[in-house]
Amino acid sequence: MKIIRALELEGKSPYFRALQTGNSPRIDMDGRPRMMLGSNNYLGLADHPLVVEGARKALERFGTGSTGSRLLNGTIDLHLELEAEIADWYGTEAAIVFTTGHQSNLGTVGALAGRGDVIVADSDAHASLHDAARFTDAQSVRFRHNDIDNLAEKLTAAAKRGRPTMVTVDGVYSMEGDLAPIDRIAEVCLEHNALLLVDEAHSVGVFGPDLTGVTELYGKADTTPLRTGTFSKSIASTGGFAVGSHDLIDAIRTNGRAFLFTAAGVPAAIGGALAAVRLIRSAEGRERAERCLANARFLRDSLASLGVPLIGPAIGPDGAETVTPIVPVIVGESLRAFAKWHELYEHGVFAALAHYPAVPLDRALLRLAVTAEHTFADLEEAATSIHTVLEPAVERRLVA
Ligand code: PMP
Repeated sequence: MKIIRALELEGKSPYFRALQTGNSPRIDMDGRPRMMLGSNNYLGLADHPLVVEGARKALERFGTGSTGSRLLNGTIDLHLELEAEIADWYGTEAAIVFTTGHQSNLGTVGALAGRGDVIVADSDAHASLHDAARFTDAQSVRFRHNDIDNLAEKLTAAAKRGRPTMVTVDGVYSMEGDLAPIDRIAEVCLEHNALLLVDEAHSVGVFGPDLTGVTELYGKADTTPLRTGTFSKSIASTGGFAVGSHDLIDAIRTNGRAFLFTAAGVPAAIGGALAAVRLIRSAEGRERAERCLANARFLRDSLASLGVPLIGPAIGPDGAETVTPIVPVIVGESLRAFAKWHELYEHGVFAALAHYPAVPLDRALLRLAVTAEHTFADLEEAATSIHTVLEPAVERRLVA
């Protein structure tokens, strides 16, 4: 963290930069126009007129604050409408809405696992799933990222000791953009009688015939007992949810400390999320998801043709190459990555920088993320800037 402080003093830190506009691809940051390539606004809904209208109407009707927890005075009609909408969308008996996505995982895992249970998490699962496991009295175990044999070993060991088990994975992994092989994970969980939770944070609105996420893409939506998600990415708001059976959702409603002991999501966030979910379920949602993935493919191809080192594409169902909105560019060790990030920023492109411990020590990433609102011209311009910045100086001299 000393490095970050030093970079901050030099005005070169990639973190805590303030926007003077919304997150649409053309932004103002630090007082000058730049291109946003580091947001999770995958469908470009954060400034969509219908979503803004949904938030505005809720704000005008219910005021600014929720002024209490869901349990007591914080629940408004819109929370219930949103829960009904999400349960209908996911085809589950019930849904529950939380104040953030982080709390969705904390509240769900915390309510359902306890002393004597085992939670087996993918080692690359989001921090909120690891935090959630730590938050319980259950034994917390990790399996090697996407390694199904290793998962089976952990589940066999837990079963031998007669321990009820919960398995937690991300649908799309947030840093490298790869997918969890949900078909094989679901199978192993079924064999070992383990409760599977898939966090669809980065896949809701993007994957599956109904855009509910990676579980649906793998055809496992009907048999996966628990899925969580967030409103902070494609759904263009703040908050989160879990879907499942009446029994599971009731257990969360009554035992989920991260659900019970915090203020309800504010009306504007819930109204905006409801409008966004309805929009995603309309023809426009499908069209935006397709545009987002076409943009990701275009950016990947542009960078690859310039020789920029990328991770992926991801592998999806039936071993097929699957593009996700996340396009990770490998930059190397952290100090180089900080310098390259700043050069790119000076070229007018904001990218998210992922460095240790979010990724291995020598493999910092520029985590690019596209939205449905980028144009091919935007992405071509960004790819050229990224190539210029990452190209080794010696090569540049030779070309010159
Ligand atoms: N799960 C995953 C996989 C995430 O990437 C994130 C946020 N980056 C969260 C949960 C937490 O969501 P929120 O930001 O809504 O708290």
